[in-house]
Formats: sequence, C-alpha cells, structure tokens
Amino acid sequence: MSTASPHASYLILGAGLAGLSLADALLRRGVRSSIVVADARDDFTNDRTWGFWDVHPHAYRGLVHQRWSQWSFRSGATDYRQSSVVAPYCYLPADRFYQDVVSRLQAAPNCSLLLGTKVGNVRQEATRMTVETSAGELSATHVFDALGTRGPTWPSTVPQPGPGVLCQRFLGWFVEVAEPVFDPSCVTLMDFDVTPNGELHFVYVLPFSSTRALVEDTTIGLDGIPLSAHRREVQQYLSHRYGLTTWQIEREEVATIPMLQVKRSDQSSQRLIPVGTAAGTVRPSSGYAFVRTQLQVAALAARVAEGHPSAVPVGRGRDEFLDQVFLNVLQHDPEAFSRNLMLLAKRLPGDRFARFMMDAASPVDLLSMIAALPKPPFVRGAVRVGCEHLRR
Ligand SMILES: Cc1cc2nc3c(=O)[nH]c(=O)nc-3n(C[C@H](O)[C@H](O)[C@H](O)COP(=O)(O)OP(=O)(O)OC[C@H]3O[C@@H](n4cnc5c(N)ncnc54)[C@H](O)[C@@H]3O)c2cc1C
Repeated sequence: MSTASPHASYLILGAGLAGLSLADALLRRGVRSSIVVADARDDFTNDRTWGFWDVHPHAYRGLVHQRWSQWSFRSGATDYRQSSVVAPYCYLPADRFYQDVVSRLQAAPNCSLLLGTKVGNVRQEATRMTVETSAGELSATHVFDALGTRGPTWPSTVPQPGPGVLCQRFLGWFVEVAEPVFDPSCVTLMDFDVTPNGELHFVYVLPFSSTRALVEDTTIGLDGIPLSAHRREVQQYLSHRYGLTTWQIEREEVATIPMLQVKRSDQSSQRLIPVGTAAGTVRPSSGYAFVRTQLQVAALAARVAEGHPSAVPVGRGRDEFLDQVFLNVLQHDPEAFSRNLMLLAKRLPGDRFARFMMDAASPVDLLSMIAALPKPPFVRGAVRVGCEHLRR
C-alpha cells in the first residue's frame, strides 16, 4: 500500500461493501494509477451478515461461509418450503469480506486506505475534484461516492431513512443454545407467527448448526418499532418456537435499510460517480444489495479500465415496474402482505424465486410469479403506479 499523495487518479469515498469491492475490482482489472479509499471508520468489525442466492458469479463466491438449498415461509401451522440445488441461499459474514479485500488493497503499491477520515463537501473544478475531509483536502481526477445515503450523490429528492420513510428495520441475535433445536438444513426466510404491529412483520432464522443461529426480528413499514420491542420479539420467538428458556447471545445486529427507488442523482457527473447504496443497489422491494453491488462494481471497473468511467445503472427496467407495484401493494396494507408472500412460497418453485430475488428472472419466471399472486390487489397496485407515472 502506498501513502496517500495529495492527488489521486481515483478517490473512493467509503470503504464499505461498495467502496472496497470497487477498489478490489479496479486492481483485478489491472488499473495501475493511484487509488485512494477514505472512510470515517477506524477499523473493520463483523458489523453485518450478507445473505443472497447463488445465482450470479462474482468475485467473493469463495468467501461464502455456508449454503442452504432449502428455505421456508411459515405462518401458524403452515410451512411452505422452497428448494434449489443450483441457486442455494448463501451466508457471507462481513469480517471475512473485509479481511480478504483489505489485505489485497494493503499489498497493492498503487492503493491507499485512509481510515478515520470523515468526508465532507465535494467540489468539481475544471480538471479535478476536490474533497474536504477531516484529514485535509484530497483531490482526484475521478471520485466515486460509496458513502451510502449520506454522500454527495444521494438525490435530494429521495428522503433519508427515518420515521415516515419506507424501510426494512431489523434486529438479530447470534445465539448459542444447549439443546439441538435449529434445523441446520433449512433457512427460515420469513415466519409470520409474530405479534401484529401494523407493518409487514416476520422473523428470519439462519441456522448455522442445530445449536447456533442468527434469529432476526424484521419489520417493513413507515415507522418501525423500538429496538426494545424487536428484542422482546426475538426472546418470545426463541421461547415459543423452540421451547428455550436460556441462550447465549454472541452478538447483536441492527439495521435500517431504505426501500426506495433511487434514480440517477443530479449531482453525479463523469467525475463524481455513485456506487453501491448511493447508486440504488439496494433492491427497493427486498432490501437485498450484495449481489447487485457486485454486478454494478464489475461493470464500473470495466469502464474505468477501458478509460471511460461513467455511472452504471442498477437493476433491469422490466423488474423495476414490478418492484414498484410490489412496494405499492405492500405500503397500502403492510400487515396483509404476508398472505401474498405465502402464496408465492406455495406456488413458485425455488429456482424461479431465487432468480427473481437476484434480478435474474426470465420472462417465464416473471409470468409464473404474476400467475402465483392474487390479481385484484396487484391490478389495483399497477393502476396506482401507472397513474403516478402519468402525473410526473
Ligand atoms: C446489518 C445489515 C445487514 C444486511 N444484510 C444484507 C443481506 O443479508 N443481504 C444483502 O444483500 N444486503 C444486506 N444489507 C444491505 C447492504 O448489502 C449493505 O448495507 C451494504 O453494506 C451496503 O453497501 P454500501 O457500500 O453501499 O454501504 P456501506 O457498506 O454501509 O458503506 C458505506 C461506508 O461509508 C462510510 N461513511 C459514511 N459516511 C461517511 C462520511 N461522511 N465520511 C467517511 N465515511 C463515511 C461508512 O463508514 C461505511 O464504511 C445489510 C445491511 C445491514 C446494515
């Protein structure tokens, strides 16, 4: 790793999933000019868990820690299972990813990682970009905004996640228990047997073994619930669902993920390019972002290596309309949305579901999905979305 010079060819703001993946992809593409990555964080901890279906090849497949070919949707006594041998559900802990990528960046002579560096204003000048940071001004020919929702390219028209904004909010515990209660062959993707709270509410369970799991209480809606209510729900789930009275909590994981359509920002330009959450890699209808980020970063790194860096659109147009209809129906009656998800679980084969979740659905997959869903609420949702488009 080099020490940061005052001017870099490529300055990446943010060393999270998108920023680190981009720096790594640039090195893999053979970029030899200087790359600086700046982030406010002082270190890298195991601060999140990435789950996704193994549908698209990407650079970090080798870091996947565990795979499950079965997942379930539960509601009361009903348990619908989907399975896919070709597209299993994957678990990749953030610390594995950070260690792997950071070690490569540190070994690269043309790359500098500036931690403890808070990023402020970004200015576009005639031939370069200047960025104010807590470590002084940095300048670069091209700047990539991988700061999530707080960076310079987050569109002013898109609200920050908070009360009144549609978000997925969850709190999970990594628990170790004495009795073998978890089924390590099947992920519980959504268990709707939880306290109704006016939002789409479910528990998600990643069973690492029969005695160790991540148990996560999730709500999707405008306001969410207090963290104490999430904790109570996880506690209740462990005792009611598994008959447990004691457990060891290894770690708690908390998130608020905005479920919003992020259109290209007015602030982005040929020299200031959004990547990751800032560019809309978080799928509005699901909150999944890991694989979308890898696809976006790979395409962006290819453009840089070819000498014409420019913003890479995320997702596919034909999925966007469906996503908007999904979100519209969900927002109209969040609590009732669990019935639609149970129908999808019952009627859709696992391979098709996995491809849909990972932006890889074929036209036949999409038709099967539409056929699986009840028509009246989705037709009304499609009309509402259509009217919104016409009003814009
Ligand atoms: C707990 C959790 C679990 C998740 N689970 C999944 C999952 O299972 N599957 C999935 O697909 N997605 C998941 N996501 C969503 C998504 O994949 C992640 O949020 C992902 O990390 C987003 O990548 P990013 O690079 O855009 O943002 P981040 O990884 O959050 O990176 C942003 C970086 O910017 C830095 N930063 C922000 N502001 C400043 C500033 N002013 N100055 C300097 N640095 C700054 C931050 O320190 C951070 O390192 C999860 C998110 C969370 C929070």
